[in-house]
Amino acid sequence: MSAAEVVRRCSELAAISEEDGRLTRRFATPAMARANALVGGWMAAAGMAVRTDPAGNLVGRVEGADPAAGTLLLGSHLDTVRDAGAFDGPLGVLAAVACVERLRTEGAPLPFAIEVLGFSDEEGLRYGTAYLGSRAVAGTFEPALLDLVDDDGVTLGAALRDFGGAPDEVGGASRRGDRLVGYCEVHIEQGPVLEGRDMAVGVVSAIAGATRAEVEFSGRAGHAGTVPMDARHDAACAAAEWVLAVEAAARAEPALVATVGRLEARPGAPNVVPGAAIASLDVRHADDAVREAAVSALRAEAQRIGAGRGVEVAWREVMSAPAVAADPALTARLAAAVAEHGLPVVTLPSGAGHDAVALAELTGVAMLFVRCAGGVSHHPDESVDEADVAVALDVLHTFVRGLAR
Ligand SMILES: [Zn+2]
Repeated sequence: MSAAEVVRRCSELAAISEEDGRLTRRFATPAMARANALVGGWMAAAGMAVRTDPAGNLVGRVEGADPAAGTLLLGSHLDTVRDAGAFDGPLGVLAAVACVERLRTEGAPLPFAIEVLGFSDEEGLRYGTAYLGSRAVAGTFEPALLDLVDDDGVTLGAALRDFGGAPDEVGGASRRGDRLVGYCEVHIEQGPVLEGRDMAVGVVSAIAGATRAEVEFSGRAGHAGTVPMDARHDAACAAAEWVLAVEAAARAEPALVATVGRLEARPGAPNVVPGAAIASLDVRHADDAVREAAVSALRAEAQRIGAGRGVEVAWREVMSAPAVAADPALTARLAAAVAEHGLPVVTLPSGAGHDAVALAELTGVAMLFVRCAGGVSHHPDESVDEADVAVALDVLHTFVRGLAR
């Protein structure tokens, strides 16, 4: 199948939405059912046996010549963010379908089976929790998740049942204990590195770990007209000073990113000196030690700033997830496949999370990034070059054939 056809299919799939005029496809919605039907048809046409697993994941499978050789997992997600682009997720699924079709056309069956997975939820738009589909496959889906409620009051369990899934049998989606060759995911980069280096594709070294914290600065509220400047304990000023320190710290450390995405002054009145300020913090790096050192330093900096202003600082860590390293052997094969097509191998970490994070608890994972225009993603302007997709298809095919040697 040509790269043009893969891109065309991504566009056709992007027309399947819950909302008129923009692409939004949440977990276990009628739009997801239509997307699964369309992609399932393409899987069947490529010679795959198609089913939907108990967690709503679309699964296409071709058998290998040697049942003892196990199964290679390929794929990505078919859900989207709100007002999404056409390629984040679907490109990885449709590139895998194209790969299976090409292998079949060539004949010469592989020893291992291939399964293409279209995950039912990666973005977490409906239930606020990421990787629902891939966690089910990895065997890490916790049954308590079934009680989560969406904005319309529908539980995850009920949504899954209406979708045709089996909430009581989500454990059946788990591939734990299966003989697996590994998992490989093609995905748009969602960043500007490949474009900056004029490269079609890159090999992912690791998916960055992340720390999230909530930081509360407590000073003293007072009248904006009567409390003199030298008698204030303005919590918002302390928070503001710290926000700039966060930016400076991240700029000083290569590949570290740190963001204060939410900032609130209380009580929030124009004529009151803020008595409290609450800031969120998100810190990411592919090296856990670098991330942890940065978080410690930012915590100490908040205390130092607070002490100088007579403002108390309370620090609450909300989440800490370690970096996920790509499997060295699979990644070396992926890099060899890139080199085989005469391209320099660019290795880069992923700042964004992917289904591969969840699958890494099940089997070795590798990821191939495809350049996207301007590094734009999670936006209708998301776009890829057909020639870059052609490179990705060639590399994926060479990688899979290489695994069989
Ligand atoms: Zn994605």
